[in-house]
Amino acid sequence: MNLIHSYDMKLETPDCFPGTDWYRAVVNLKDDITDALPYLNAELEGADYDAQAKVLLWKAGGIKYAFRPDEIVIAPVQEREEARRTAGEIIQTVNDIWKRKDEIEPNYESRKPPPKVLDIYRILPKTNCKECGSPSCMAFAAALRNDTVKLTLCPYLSKQEYSELTS
Ligand code: SF4
Repeated sequence: MNLIHSYDMKLETPDCFPGTDWYRAVVNLKDDITDALPYLNAELEGADYDAQAKVLLWKAGGIKYAFRPDEIVIAPVQEREEARRTAGEIIQTVNDIWKRKDEIEPNYESRKPPPKVLDIYRILPKTNCKECGSPSCMAFAAALRNDTVKLTLCPYLSKQEYSELTS
C-alpha cells in the first residue's frame, strides 16, 4: 500500500541566491512520512538522517533531497517539467521502500553533523565580494552548510581548512 497518496508542488527561487537560473521544488505531502524516514535512511545510500529534527538529506545524480514529515524539497531543478518528473520519481521511491519495510532494518543513526554556519563563516575572507554568486559571505556559508553550493565557488576558501571542519 502506498504511503504517499497525493501531493502538490511549487517552484521557488532559493532565498540565498536571488536571480539564479535554477529553482528548488517544494513538494507538499498530504500524508505524514515521519515513520518512513528510518527506512529511507537504511535504503538510500549516503543519506543523512537527523531523527530529532525529523529530517533526512540525500543526494543522487547531482540533485539534493530534503525529506521532512510533510514535505520533500528537491534542488536544483531547471524548469517545471523536470521538477514534476523528479518529484514523481522520488515519491515512487518512497512508496516502494515503504512497501518493503517489513524486509528492511530501520536505521535511526545520524552521520557526523555538518559544521555550523558561523564556523564556516570564520574561515571565509568576509569581504562580501559576491564572486561566488551569493550576496554575502554569510549567505554563502549558510548555503554551504545546507549543501546547496559547491565550496569551489568561493576561490578564497581553503579546501584544507574546510575539510578540517568537516572531518
Ligand atoms: S566569493 Fe568568497 S569571499 Fe566572495 S562573497 Fe563569496 S564567500 Fe565571500
